[in-house]
Amino acid sequence: MTTAADRPGARERLVGAFQSSDLSIDERTRGDADYLIALGLAGQSNPRVSGSLLRITIDGRQADYKAARKGTVELTKRLNAERNWRLSGPSCQAVGELALAHHIFPVCPACDGRKFQLVPGTPHLSATPCQPCGGTGERRIQRKHHNHIRDVIEMLSQIDGSTVGTVKRLANGASIGAIKGKRK
Ligand SMILES: [Zn+2]
Repeated sequence: MTTAADRPGARERLVGAFQSSDLSIDERTRGDADYLIALGLAGQSNPRVSGSLLRITIDGRQADYKAARKGTVELTKRLNAERNWRLSGPSCQAVGELALAHHIFPVCPACDGRKFQLVPGTPHLSATPCQPCGGTGERRIQRKHHNHIRDVIEMLSQIDGSTVGTVKRLANGASIGAIKGKRK
């Protein structure tokens, strides 16, 4: 088995695959088509969200953001029905958009994740915790619809994680068939 170190990272590999014109499938080597298939497999339960989510975290294209936003709002509506949240259409929209924004920019915008306030007029950190994030360095989830937004964020990281995981398994030599079998 080849080690992961001498292969490009899953995300880098995916970026390449998205831009590839060679989508032939070769039994002996992993081609770009395989990575797109992996992405398709990983995204089966949430096909609209997963591909666009990955691309946003990779290079932040506007069109991908729109696709991810649409997918995340749809995901929110599905959760709303499945978990009996009783949110209105506009609330689902808001919860989905806030969750996506949080997923893409998880770091506190006030302290940039540094957790402490700067000493005024200097680039140095003080001992005073950042107020907006309470010293966690993470963007706070707003109070209204807090639990729903948190649930959607959790779902988004799972989708992102499973897509990257599938691609990693392929990069490490797993066959498409093995991955398909695992998903049953
Ligand atoms: Zn902060």
